[in-house]
Amino acid sequence: MPSLIAIDDTDSRQRGMCTTYVGTQIRDRLREAGSVVHRLLLIRCHPAIEHKTRGNAAVCLHTTADPALARQIAKTTVDDLAEQEDPNTNPGLVIAPHGPETIPESVGQLGRAAMHRRVERARVDKILSEQAYQSVTWDQGRGLIGALAAIGAWECWDEWTYEVLAYRPPERWGQPRSVNRESVFAAAETAYPTVWDTVDRTADEVVCVPHTPGPVLYGIRGDSPEAVRQVSEAIESEPIATTGCFITNQGTDAHLQSVSLPNSTAGTCVRTNGTVTSPPTTRSGGHVFFELTDQSTTRQCAAFEPTKRFRDRVRNLRVGDRLTVCGEISEQTIKLEKFAIRKLTQTELVVPTCPECGRSMESAGAGQGYRCRDCGTQAPGKETQSVDRTLDRGWYEVPPVARRHVAKPLVRGGFDAPVHPEQ
Ligand code: ZN
Repeated sequence: MPSLIAIDDTDSRQRGMCTTYVGTQIRDRLREAGSVVHRLLLIRCHPAIEHKTRGNAAVCLHTTADPALARQIAKTTVDDLAEQEDPNTNPGLVIAPHGPETIPESVGQLGRAAMHRRVERARVDKILSEQAYQSVTWDQGRGLIGALAAIGAWECWDEWTYEVLAYRPPERWGQPRSVNRESVFAAAETAYPTVWDTVDRTADEVVCVPHTPGPVLYGIRGDSPEAVRQVSEAIESEPIATTGCFITNQGTDAHLQSVSLPNSTAGTCVRTNGTVTSPPTTRSGGHVFFELTDQSTTRQCAAFEPTKRFRDRVRNLRVGDRLTVCGEISEQTIKLEKFAIRKLTQTELVVPTCPECGRSMESAGAGQGYRCRDCGTQAPGKETQSVDRTLDRGWYEVPPVARRHVAKPLVRGGFDAPVHPEQ
């Protein structure tokens, strides 16, 4: 009998480790035991939940191993590798005694729900019991939620991308990484845009090499497994201990829900429409804010400092622009990941200029229009003036250096307006 093995929350922000690495070790041990591993899934769950691990990744293996063997190998591997000394690490392991073709509807629905909002542990425990799934928890076992969601993901999503992750030998974890920068840029160029977010060309920065203490040396993301493998193999670096090619929901916008602004709630990630109702302002720290309004509901939108040159796009918005915005709602603020300009304001109202002397007229009093005191000229009210816009209709996005894992890069295509991709 085949099985699906899923794990979550084995890593630690401070101490390293990575759930994807634990997944590759389970894969190797299953193969040593004579089982076939058909797929490794890397599932990014709801990015806004409060207890997220780094990037909030869960891993699911699709294997021919029977459930008893799967449980034994996976449990031993998590015992060996999970960062249990970190009190914020609460691993969970779920074994489903069936193949990927027969995932129950309730499990698929949980996979979808976990992408969009916080899921209660009680709902997970109920499904585990109904389906007679085996599970193992360490500490509080919060990882059970992401693990069950990773089993359901295969049933509820149909858009997938790929990532090859290259791992360092354990003795090098925590040491500075040695990856040849020129080889990364050259390899990235050969496969762009099938392979994306490897580098940030404008910022001249390598994006695929993490700065965290864990086992990952680099990760190459793209639309085809062959292309990500080719780029990965073309990179010159320190010795690689092992690699894993994951099927993943990264780069798909699976976290976004389309809702109206009045129906958008804190703690969710949304795609919503509105009109710019306050000029963008830059506050301390370099964060840029403006207000977006729809049907008498107003929310603040923010482009934070780490989004870098994206803030220049936001600063160029004007009152009256019609937008679609995407991002996480934290408190009452939408943290922008991308936006589309649907309608650009092409004119603005300005205080009239005196035709005689060229200076600005002054208000002649409430409802009295404008006049020039020196020349005696008059104007009935403000005048319409066309404005030069540096933005065009269509989609703008944060640069690769600032992209969250699950956000879809514009270069992947499939958007409903022209795109202005960041490379
Ligand atoms: Zn004048």
